[in-house]
Amino acid sequence: MDNSLVLIVEDEPAIAQILEAYLLRDGFRTVRAGDGEVALQHHAYLKPDIVLLDVRLPKLDGFGVLARLRQAGSTPVIMVTAIADDIDRLSGLRLGADDYVVKPFNPQEVVARVRAVLRRTQGERADAIKRFGAIEVDFASYTAFVSIDERRTHLSLTLSEFRILAYMIRHPTQAFARADILDACLPESDALVRTVDTHISNLRRKLDDMGQNGFFPAVRGIGYRFSDPR
Ligand code: CA
Repeated sequence: MDNSLVLIVEDEPAIAQILEAYLLRDGFRTVRAGDGEVALQHHAYLKPDIVLLDVRLPKLDGFGVLARLRQAGSTPVIMVTAIADDIDRLSGLRLGADDYVVKPFNPQEVVARVRAVLRRTQGERADAIKRFGAIEVDFASYTAFVSIDERRTHLSLTLSEFRILAYMIRHPTQAFARADILDACLPESDALVRTVDTHISNLRRKLDDMGQNGFFPAVRGIGYRFSDPR
């Protein structure tokens, strides 16, 4: 049985009740929030394992809640909406949601999605630290370090820089297109592809400052990789 805690954020009580009934029947624990502000409070205090997040909500809408959750950490989020415009925004998942479902939904299908997203994200967490050379990325705490001779120095990065590093270090020699880096790492911004160049050049400079040269080489006609094959 999966006893993960699911935060259901939904302002229509009938829909919240159906979701809750199906999740409880499958062994999940649940907590409900009827607006965006209560959702953030519940998230902060109860630390749910996953959030089912309606988009159209009183006080603070689902996109606003999602942005705040992403600033706070990496709790998995499944967005729920019936509005075609929302679906367009969500379908690229550039906003940082882990999945989305469209109303009207089959509650069993939603439970299956919850299970799938939890399985995926918990698998990622098991592999929570990635090292390459002296560079170390801790995905769970959103921190990066340079470790030389047992000395571990914190690498001070912006959230965008951290995401780019964390994304690319998983596959260190793979060449990534700028557009893919943008989609994966800067989901809630309307940034242009060229913004990636700025972040990469800041990352290079910060690594250079710590004696780590030659990372994030450009790949002509494509974009960047984390490291040249050695
Ligand atoms: Ca709603």
